[in-house]
Amino acid sequence: MADEFPAGSVWLVGAGPGDPDLLTRKAERLLRTASIVFYDALVGEGVLALIPASVRRVAVGKRSGRHSKDQATINDLLVAAACAGERVVRLKGGDPSIFGRSMEECAALAQAGVRVRICPGITAASAAAASAGVSLSLRGLARRVQFATAHKRGDAPLDLDWAALADPHCTTVFYMGRSAAAEISRNLTAAGLSGATPVLLACDVSLASERLLHTRLDLLHVAVSAFCDDRPTLIMVGEALAAGGRMPMAASGYDLLRDVKLESTSRAL
Ligand code: SAH
Repeated sequence: MADEFPAGSVWLVGAGPGDPDLLTRKAERLLRTASIVFYDALVGEGVLALIPASVRRVAVGKRSGRHSKDQATINDLLVAAACAGERVVRLKGGDPSIFGRSMEECAALAQAGVRVRICPGITAASAAAASAGVSLSLRGLARRVQFATAHKRGDAPLDLDWAALADPHCTTVFYMGRSAAAEISRNLTAAGLSGATPVLLACDVSLASERLLHTRLDLLHVAVSAFCDDRPTLIMVGEALAAGGRMPMAASGYDLLRDVKLESTSRAL
């Protein structure tokens, strides 16, 4: 595999949502061939266990509120390792092209004359749909799928196009949206989505600790505070997501609380 991964080059590798069985064969091969792996906090333990003991690992992980290294430092580390002749894997949760800041790393590497390539991974939204037994697109209900980041910067309101997001014929997936749940619910309803629109909350997708909850848009913020603690969470909104709740194939640990009454969710607070 010398051609695939020469010394002094970098692969940005998608680690998938956590379960090592959801890693691509190529990703696994690159992890075995690397001499050093820089990995994010969201990369699952099971995936890290596939890295041979002889390969150096460096945690550069960012989780909201718990930054360990800033992006410029990560870029510098990647460039320095490649220029020192290492075979560098930059391992990222999910797919590197979805809210993964992959282009900043690629630009820094390209500027330093380092060859960089990307190995895709399964993004959290795909894995959540699979676990819940639903489809993100659905004939007649969701002709469009959109991914949005709801990452909050302090107390500043989210700068999102709510009119575009509030499309009743679309499945919308919010990444990094846990602390913005109330804002998401309020803005989507104000932009015209019904409060009864199905919502799927998906925490720790594909891990043993996975939790899925069906709720509705007007209950979103109470559901998030009662259900999600500080786990990685997706907020998925749209009519297509209700379908799984009617299917008998619900995965283990699957909670069907979509029709939970407001009183009982409030009590959980
Ligand atoms: N590149 C990643 C997303 C990185 S942004 C991907 O393609 O999946 C980080 C956000 O992704 C988290 O805040 C959370 O919203 C979501 N996420 C990542 N892994 C997850 C998981 N296993 N379960 C639920 N959400 C997850």
